[in-house]
Amino acid sequence: MTQLSPIDLRSDTVTQPDEAMRIAMSAAEVADDVIDHDPTMRALEERVAELLGVDAALWVPSGTMGNLIALMIHLRRGDRFLAPVGAHVLDAELGSGAWLAGGMPQALEWDAAPGRASAQAIRAAAGTEGPYYDLRTTLLCLENTHNYAGGTVTQPDEHAMLVSVAKETGLRVHLDGARLWNAAVALGVPPAALTVGVDSVQVCLSKGLGAPVGSVVAGSPTFVAEARRTRKMLGGGVRQGGVLAAAGLVGLDRIDDLAQDHANARTLADGLVELGWTVPTPETNIVLAEVPDLEVTLTGLRHLGVYAGPMGGKLRFVTHRDVTEADIKETLRRISSAS
Ligand SMILES: *Cc1c(COP(=O)(O)O)cnc(C)c1O
Repeated sequence: MTQLSPIDLRSDTVTQPDEAMRIAMSAAEVADDVIDHDPTMRALEERVAELLGVDAALWVPSGTMGNLIALMIHLRRGDRFLAPVGAHVLDAELGSGAWLAGGMPQALEWDAAPGRASAQAIRAAAGTEGPYYDLRTTLLCLENTHNYAGGTVTQPDEHAMLVSVAKETGLRVHLDGARLWNAAVALGVPPAALTVGVDSVQVCLSKGLGAPVGSVVAGSPTFVAEARRTRKMLGGGVRQGGVLAAAGLVGLDRIDDLAQDHANARTLADGLVELGWTVPTPETNIVLAEVPDLEVTLTGLRHLGVYAGPMGGKLRFVTHRDVTEADIKETLRRISSAS
């Protein structure tokens, strides 16, 4: 039997920087960003701030560090923070919200929609100002799209409503927008329509946009000045980072390409449903499938040269810029021929 060429759908982080990106990286104008400011990093930060409709932004090596910096700034030790069940800040950052930011996490049930809590749930969890011995709840973390729920999208009006409830109850708001670009493309709105009212937001350049490294954390100039200090403290001060920021700038030119990833995810989900699988229609680039035995299915797929991953007891396929429509059809052909 000939070896089938692998189709890697484990994550939208597996992409290879292409030639245009590598050329931009090699040509980047750079300087020491720790001492002063690297010009390419500065250009990237200004462009992201504008796209997000906020005043300032800071490049960080990873989304995890971007989220951690925001939590460290927003939380005092012992403060409780709220986030929907399965949020990346709760489950996928090694407890750093507690360990390093000193916060006490509380997960909010998805009582509004997959990946989303309702206004009532936020109000109830935030509580009201109580006696001096009360626990303080000070921060709401939102996630758009919500990864664990299957890349689900929060609309601008729902986002604005949740933020206003948070403000009424005295909470700050951090938006984990690792895949905010996907949400914006899926809705056909500018990314800035999805950040209204937040105190900070984190976006990834290393997922759908295909950069090898990097995220951006953004907010007010005061927030970003503090974020810069915190980044340095965490060892995230990068010297000639323009080489990396240049890749991010190329990625930002490709936001609209995410529509193809979303179409591919839909093709995959529809094809799997035709084969009798249980798969909800994806809103963006993440397809979650319920299978009777996850390990058996993962191994079976691997033998077919189809790489998927586990996510909360389900099978997760993620489409990205290195898989084509033809690859998706080939994926379905392989699965169909094996079943
Ligand atoms: C990937 C991801 C992150 C973290 O990004 P890294 O760059 O991998 O650290 C944060 N939040 C969400 C929702 C993510 O999917």
